[in-house]
Amino acid sequence: MQNKNISEMVNVIVKYIKNNKKAVTSMACIAAIVITSCVVFARKPVYFESENTVYLEKPVVLSENKTVAAADLVPAYGVYINEELVAAVEDASDLDTLFEEVLASASKGYTNAEAKFINTPKTLKGLFDAEYVYSAEELKVKIEKEYSQYIEVRSYVTVEVSVPYKVITKYDSSKDEDYFKIKKEGKDGINKVTTETIYINGEKQSSSVFETETVKEPVNKVVVTGKTLKSGVGSGTFAWPSAYTHNIFSGFGYREDGYHGGIDINDNGMYGSDILAADSGTVITASYDEYGYGHHVEIDHGNGYVTRYAHCSDIYVSVGEKVSKGAVIAAVGSTGNSEAPHLHFEIIENGVRVDPTMFF
Ligand SMILES: [Zn+2]
Repeated sequence: MQNKNISEMVNVIVKYIKNNKKAVTSMACIAAIVITSCVVFARKPVYFESENTVYLEKPVVLSENKTVAAADLVPAYGVYINEELVAAVEDASDLDTLFEEVLASASKGYTNAEAKFINTPKTLKGLFDAEYVYSAEELKVKIEKEYSQYIEVRSYVTVEVSVPYKVITKYDSSKDEDYFKIKKEGKDGINKVTTETIYINGEKQSSSVFETETVKEPVNKVVVTGKTLKSGVGSGTFAWPSAYTHNIFSGFGYREDGYHGGIDINDNGMYGSDILAADSGTVITASYDEYGYGHHVEIDHGNGYVTRYAHCSDIYVSVGEKVSKGAVIAAVGSTGNSEAPHLHFEIIENGVRVDPTMFF
């Protein structure tokens, strides 16, 4: 626009010179002034000389309506977090250290944690209203006080979780239906599960499994049963295993203390209430595990499914016993790794624990 105006202006002047030679001198002077001033306005204001400098084109002032005397504009480095100006500092050489200190204090109190800005802060050179120019310490305090929502803390916690053994059932057609033998005892394995939890301003945002490491592989349990089980005694559908309540206190899947391979059925006053066989089958485990399942029962349904009932206070069945769907097999308790009376119930499909709620 400016260039077009200039060339039009020059054309007018040239025409005028051709038509009126007397006015040449004065018109040339006017043209010179116009061209010079246009060139001055077209130039970008450069506050810093270095070629690599990212500079702000306009001075940064507290308010557009405020008149700032040139003496109050200070060459400085504006620190922007999430595109927002926090403050400016005259010396930018220690900013990286300052950010590191802010992040270190943000991650304090968290286990094995590292903090980072959600978006990397930007530093822009320019002229700043003196009121924006802070000392490094003041800038640090302001970031910690007002910009902590732009800092995320990732904390990594590793726990050991037990990996239950699989139960492999072999069928011996030469034996009758009451035949039952444990050929090999099972042993739980151990996994180290590292969970990554993200916090912003002390509030948990999300939690997910970051890494799983096998410490010890589980040893499969092998049982042999008689001919009837070959075709399966289980109906393939499951009955709810608690006579007392349908309330699920804790679901299947990953939770803060690791993987939860079943559901916790829990309600006030359920201690001692009946635990029911979810389907017909053979009791393959009726034992005690002090640190894990406590008193627990496993029933093989002969169709690829095994159900597990844990933390019982009492067990009414023994290994090898055939039970029918809905039979009372144990009483709710809080033995093993349990904080309150509840029934921990698992459905194991071909050796893999699955979410029991899919079956009801
Ligand atoms: Zn449980």
